[in-house]
Amino acid sequence: MIKELIPRPKSVFLKIKCLKCSNEQTVFQRGSSIIRCTICDEVLVEPSGGKGKIKGEIIQTLE
Ligand SMILES: [Zn+2]
Repeated sequence: MIKELIPRPKSVFLKIKCLKCSNEQTVFQRGSSIIRCTICDEVLVEPSGGKGKIKGEIIQTLE
């Protein structure tokens, strides 16, 4: 029998606007590494206790 139920970890993606250059970028909130803006290299998400600390402006939450 084929297993159809694969446990999916609840992941949250955020659409963040860079405060420096206004670039909009979709990032994974629970990342364990620093996420930088692809345009200006500004830090958008900083790891903090398993949950990302958002440095930019959150535009949208995608679940
Ligand atoms: Zn930027």
